[in-house]
Amino acid sequence: MSKRRKKTNNIILSLIIFIILCVSGYFGTDYFLENSNSDNIAKEVSTNEVKITTSSSIENVDEVDLNNDKLNIIFFYVGQADCTLIKLNDDVILIDAGNNNDGKNVVSFLQEKGITQIDYLIGTHADEDHIGGIDDIINSMDIGTFLIPTIGENGTDYKNAVEMAKEKNIQIKHPTRGEIFYFENAQFEVMSAMEEENTSDNNSSLVIEFTYNNTTYLFMGDAETEVENSRSWNKVNVLKVGHHGSNSSSSTKFLEQVKPEYSIIEVGKNNSYNLPSDKAIRRLEESGTQVLRTDKANGEEVGSFWLTSDGNTIDIREVNINLDGNI
Ligand SMILES: [Zn+2]
Repeated sequence: MSKRRKKTNNIILSLIIFIILCVSGYFGTDYFLENSNSDNIAKEVSTNEVKITTSSSIENVDEVDLNNDKLNIIFFYVGQADCTLIKLNDDVILIDAGNNNDGKNVVSFLQEKGITQIDYLIGTHADEDHIGGIDDIINSMDIGTFLIPTIGENGTDYKNAVEMAKEKNIQIKHPTRGEIFYFENAQFEVMSAMEEENTSDNNSSLVIEFTYNNTTYLFMGDAETEVENSRSWNKVNVLKVGHHGSNSSSSTKFLEQVKPEYSIIEVGKNNSYNLPSDKAIRRLEESGTQVLRTDKANGEEVGSFWLTSDGNTIDIREVNINLDGNI
């Protein structure tokens, strides 16, 4: 082989080795590969956005069939009060049960829908418009665990609820902030449970963040700005607005973190507190969320909202359910 031929062969061999080294990630190409990988991951995350739709309203309550394999949440109309049902397969959570006169209506509705047991009954705080109806629930249904804060224990409704729970040997738990409860293939975290001596009933509210696959829901009870300012918050898809849309809740700073696509206000029609407040509604709307109100759910009448989710998409419908017992 001539010297010249040998030199050409060496150059070709070197080129081949160079190309192989480049392809195998030598000469720092790893760096670029890693970067393009993380780009891919970022794209994947951004495609995980939850699609939320609203379907046409349901007039006939018989059409509300909760025997499905989806997550079902109903934000009930119970007048000037709160009551929210969460159901996933056979597991059930009830957050609050309306005023004293609403409890029996809530029991009837649940029984009509085939619900006889509640895994977690949550009394967010001691006020009547949240736990007034809870003694009826405890009396008529099988309860797994009853969650209630420590504040407000001297109130009549608090005493009635706890006495009824003790009578029926139901486990009573005072959860602390950060506690996580597992529920079917979902979970919920207690985001706030203030228990300092001077905490108001409203701010003692058990605030619940419920997560099911890619969807997240935040239930504020009657928590006000003090609670909102007490921690950082995750972005959620749907917010049960604090304190019936009062001006003392839903601060801009809080909404900037929570960024809900939909915000639901449980509030009584023409209530004497003039809730929800115009200012709170304005802050909610300015944050870009869609506001739904139980006092205007069914056209301009009252009604409830039935949310269903497969964990990736959410659908919300107005339903003609009125469990207000004070009429
Ligand atoms: Zn309230």
